[in-house]
Amino acid sequence: MSSSILRLALPSPLRRLFDYLPPIGIARAALLPGMRLRVPFGRREVIGILVEVTDQSEVPMEKLKPALELLDSKPPLPAPLFKLCLWTAQYYQHSLGDTLSWALPVLLRQGEPAEARQERYWRLVDGASPDDPRLARAPRQREALKAIAQHAHGLPHALLSKLQLNKDSLDLLLEKGLVRIESRRSRPSREHSGSWLLQAELTLNAQQRAAFEAVNAGLGGFQAFLLAGVTGSGKTEVYLQLIHRVLEAGKQALVLIPEINLGPQTLARFEQRFNARIALLHSNVNDRERLDAWLAARDGEADIIIGTRSALFTPMKNPGLIIIDEEHDASYKQQEGLRYHARDLALLRARQENLPILLGSATPSLESLHNAHSGRYALLKLTQRAGNAQSPRFMRLDVKSRPLDAGISGPLQQAIGQTLAAGQQVLVYLNRRGFAPTLLCHDCGWLSQCPRCDARMTLHQRHNELRCHHCGHVERPPRNCPDCGKVDLRPVGAGTERAEERLGILFPDYPVLRIDRDSTARKGAMEQMIGTINRGEPCLLVGTQMLAKGHHFPRVTLVAILDADGGLFSADFRASERMAQLIVQVAGRAGRADEPGKVIIQTHLADHPLLVQLTEQGYFAFAEQALSERRAAGLPPFSHLALLRAEAQKPGQAEAFLDDACSLAEQLLEQLQLNGVELLGPIPAPMERRAGRYRAQLLLQGNARASLHRLMGAWVPMLEQLPGGRAVRWSVDVDPIDL
Ligand code: ADP
Repeated sequence: MSSSILRLALPSPLRRLFDYLPPIGIARAALLPGMRLRVPFGRREVIGILVEVTDQSEVPMEKLKPALELLDSKPPLPAPLFKLCLWTAQYYQHSLGDTLSWALPVLLRQGEPAEARQERYWRLVDGASPDDPRLARAPRQREALKAIAQHAHGLPHALLSKLQLNKDSLDLLLEKGLVRIESRRSRPSREHSGSWLLQAELTLNAQQRAAFEAVNAGLGGFQAFLLAGVTGSGKTEVYLQLIHRVLEAGKQALVLIPEINLGPQTLARFEQRFNARIALLHSNVNDRERLDAWLAARDGEADIIIGTRSALFTPMKNPGLIIIDEEHDASYKQQEGLRYHARDLALLRARQENLPILLGSATPSLESLHNAHSGRYALLKLTQRAGNAQSPRFMRLDVKSRPLDAGISGPLQQAIGQTLAAGQQVLVYLNRRGFAPTLLCHDCGWLSQCPRCDARMTLHQRHNELRCHHCGHVERPPRNCPDCGKVDLRPVGAGTERAEERLGILFPDYPVLRIDRDSTARKGAMEQMIGTINRGEPCLLVGTQMLAKGHHFPRVTLVAILDADGGLFSADFRASERMAQLIVQVAGRAGRADEPGKVIIQTHLADHPLLVQLTEQGYFAFAEQALSERRAAGLPPFSHLALLRAEAQKPGQAEAFLDDACSLAEQLLEQLQLNGVELLGPIPAPMERRAGRYRAQLLLQGNARASLHRLMGAWVPMLEQLPGGRAVRWSVDVDPIDL
C-alpha cells in the first residue's frame, strides 16, 4: 500500500526538507504545495510549508509522524511567489524553510489565517423574538436578544463586554436556536472609484518624456530599464506618471525604497498625487498592519505597494510594474540570515511574472551600469535638473597641513558664515556618529579599545559613554588613564556630536540641527527636524548618511563634506564606488530650488584621480573609469563572488573549519571538473575579533556564475556535515557586498 508523504520546509537552518504523514482525516487531494501545516518537531510544534506530496521517504514509515493540523484551505502564497522563494533558497544556498520565514509576514508564520481579518457577529435567526415563551423567565437572555435585534448586520462579538452582555446568556440563546454566529470580514474591502489623480501631473521635459515613453511602451511584458537621472532631475515624477498608466490599466505597482527615513516623505508624495489604495510595508509597521497590507496586495485591494527590501516578496493579484528607487542603495542587500539582494530578486521576479522593472538612481551601481552597457537593461538618462534648479558646483579643498577645528578648516568656516549670512542653509556631512571616534591618553598613548572587538570605542559625550559601534558594548569613560593613571585623556577626531557643538560655538546666531541615528531615535524626531528645515530660515544641518538620501531641502545651498579620504584607500574594492555615490548623493541636497548650490569637499588627496574625475566630469565618467579598473582586475561585475564566513569562541577554530571547507571545495572542483573557480583564503576577517568571537572568511571567485553555483550546490550542504562545524557559526553570502 502506498501512502502519501508530505515533504515540508520547516523553520530550521538545515538545508533539507522534513517528511510527515498527512494530518488524520485529511485527504491527499486537499493538500497543495504552499499550504501551512502544524507539525511536531522535536519537543516543539512548528509551522511548516508543504513543498510536495510524494509516495516515498528515506525515513522508515513507522517513524513518520502525522502532521497535526492543516492551516489553509488554499495556499497563502500565490504560485509565482512560491516559485520565487524556491529559487531564492537555491541561489543563496539557504534553507528553504528559513527563506520562507523571511518572505512571509510574521503572523502567517505564526499560523494566523491568511485572509483579511475576520470578526464574529451575533445575529437573530429568522422569527426569533424577545417574546418567545422560553425567555419568559430568563430576563438576561431576553435583554441580550433585544440588544442583538438592534444590530441589523449582527452584533460584533468584540462589543459584548462594552454592552455588559453576559457570554453565558448568549450561549444559552445559541442552544435554544434563537441566535447564530456569523464570521465575516470586519472591514469590507475598499473599492476604488473615481479618477486616479488628485493633482495635475507636471509637464515632463524632453528627457523625462523620452524616459516615460520608453517604459510606457514596454508596460505589457518583461523588460528592464535603468533610469540614470542626476539628483533632482525628476525621476520620481517619471515614476508617478508611469504608475498612473499602470493604475489606468487596472494593475498594481510595487515600489521599493531604501531603508532610510524616506517612508513618510515618499508616502506623502504618492498620497498627494493619487486617489488610490496604498499599502505600506516597512520596518516601522507592526505585524498586524504588515499582514493586512500583504493580504490587500495579494487580493488586489491595494493599488500601489510601497516598501523596503522585504516588500519585494509581496504577492500581487494584478502586477503591472516594479520600481526600485535608489537602486544602488546598500540596504537592498540583507546582511543577516537570508543574504538576498532585493534588486536582483526583483529582476528575477519581473522576468518570471512577465513585468517591466524600472531601476532608478542618480548614482547607479556599477553592476547595473554594466548590465546597461551589455544591453540587458535599456538605459534612460536624465542629465539635467528639472524645473529651474541647476547642478551644484564642486570644490576640492586641500586641507593638508591646515589646522582643523573639530574637523572644520578655516576656508570652510568662512564659506559657511557667508552662506548663513545670505539667509541660506548649510549641510555638513560626516560619516561618524558620537563625539569622537576614540579617547587617547596624551601621556602614555592608551586608546579606548573595545574589550570584545578589534575596534575602538566611540566617545558619546552627551550620554557620557564610550560605545562600541560594532558590538554595542557600553562603558563609562575613565577619569584617569587605565594604564598610567594620568588624567590627560583626550577625544581624538570628530564625530557629529563634536561638529554640532563646535558649529554652535562658531555660529551662535543660527540653530544647529544634528541628524543621525542617535538624534532621531525618538519617534517623530526626524519629522520635527525636517519641519524646522522646511520652514526655510538659515540654519546648519550636521549629519551622517541619513541626510544624504532622497531629502529635498530647497534652502540648502552649501554642502560640506568634512572628510572624503576614507573611501580612497580602503581595502574593500567597492569603497571608492560607495564614496563616489555618497559624495554625489550628499551634493545632490544642494541647490535644489532656484539658488545654485555649492559643494566643498575637504580632503588630503585633492589630486586623487578618482576624486578629480568625479568632481570635474561627474559620476558617469567616474563609473566608466571604475568599471575599466574592475575589468582589468577581474572583479565583479566581471566575475562572481561568494563568501563563506565563520566565527568561533576560540582563536583558530574558524580557520580550521574553513581549511576543511577549502579542501572539500578543491576535491569537488576536481570531481565535477569545474574550471574558472578560485578559492581565496581562508584569511582573518577585516575585523578579526568582534563581540568576543574570532572571525575568518574564505572567498570563492568564479569567472562564470554557472560553475560557481554548481560548486556551491554540491559543497554547501556538505559543510553541514563537517565535524569542525559544531564549534563555529558559519554563513554563506552569495554576491557579498561587504568583504
Ligand atoms: P529626483 O527623483 O530625480 O530626485 P524629483 O522627481 O524629486 O527628482 O524632482 C525634483 C524637483 O523637481 C521636485 O520638486 C519636482 O516637483 C520638480 N520637477 C520634477 N519634474 C518636473 C517638471 N517636469 N517640471 C517642473 N518641475 C519638475
